[in-house]
Amino acid sequence: MARITLDELTKVYDPGGEAVVAADTVSLEVADGEFLVLVGPSGCGKSTTLRCIAGLEDITDGTLLFDDHDVTDYRASERDVAMVFQNYALYPHMTVRQNIGFGLKLSTKMTADEIDDRVVGVAEMLGIEELLGDKPKALSGGQQQRVALGRAIVREPEVFLMDEPLSNLDAKLRSDMRTELQELQQDLDVTTVYVTHDQTEAMAMGDRIAVMNAGELQQVGPPEEVYRHPSNEFVADFIGSPSINLFSASVNDGTLIGPGDFTYTLEDPLPVDGHDTVRVGIRPEDITLIEDGTNHATVTVVEPMGNENFCYMDLEDIEMTARVEPTKRPVADQRVAFGFEEEALYLFDAATGDALKTKTDDSTPDLHPEVSN
Ligand code: ADP
Repeated sequence: MARITLDELTKVYDPGGEAVVAADTVSLEVADGEFLVLVGPSGCGKSTTLRCIAGLEDITDGTLLFDDHDVTDYRASERDVAMVFQNYALYPHMTVRQNIGFGLKLSTKMTADEIDDRVVGVAEMLGIEELLGDKPKALSGGQQQRVALGRAIVREPEVFLMDEPLSNLDAKLRSDMRTELQELQQDLDVTTVYVTHDQTEAMAMGDRIAVMNAGELQQVGPPEEVYRHPSNEFVADFIGSPSINLFSASVNDGTLIGPGDFTYTLEDPLPVDGHDTVRVGIRPEDITLIEDGTNHATVTVVEPMGNENFCYMDLEDIEMTARVEPTKRPVADQRVAFGFEEEALYLFDAATGDALKTKTDDSTPDLHPEVSN
């Protein structure tokens, strides 16, 4: 097992002379045995960063350490990492037993019996021991993914690197496998870096999550912290489902004046001191529909979820979402008044996006609003 340290790691691709900075001075430490999730929109540099850790890409600049060893220039085969991809790439002509054991046969001096013992042990751990004689085409997607995992686990590497390993699975299986993978990682206690574009998956799985955008690391922290205390508007917007409601407001003597008839006088105006305009963020679960109030929106659609309703509404030209109790069921075109607590309010610098104020209440957020997507 190893601690992984990225020190200003930079990767520049240069296809046809046009430089693409895919990872831009990324500094990050993954603790020994930690499960870290790299998350961000498509093209933000997650896979590139992972591939640099794996040794599948040359690092343009910066340093990569495993514990205290500088492995920046090591080849992939010298790094003791095992990767699991979205694309399982099992050998179709080999049985499950051969697929799992193949890497050991190539890379170690273990005897056939020793390899087989380890393969059977891993298969038992993954609940696929009955499939050892089968070829991949006889297996379901979930079973194939387990074999791919088995192939990584059997090598007993210092580091697991996983690139969207669950994205080919259907929703139910994905959510089951998420839990299994987490349990497995806890049991094996192997340092793991896991890449996904799915923030729900990141929130559900990571000890800590690292949010990337346009090649740059935005924030690293435990899921709750990133959710409650995003460092900037991008992170606030990316993490959370349904997404946070965001709009611009002008600031007049501590009063926020937004779209439609939105006005709110801050009890604590300090965060907006010196700002003419700010970006306001309110999470859907922090909006309440009230009988009487000064802020109004027009309902467009209400989606019943069973345990709650998602109420979509327009605040002038801003689309807002409120998560409200199932008994609250306004109809389309209805004008509703809404409220929120100042402790739940987020405020961002309109020019830089930096957070000026994040949550100050001590409520526990509901991190997994999507039951299973
Ligand atoms: P993500 O995994 O977050 O979707 P990637 O790391 O795959 O993002 O890509 C980051 C950026 O680097 C993108 O702009 C992508 O087009 C570019 N890129 C990735 N691989 C290559 C490559 N082999 N050659 C040139 N550009 C690449």
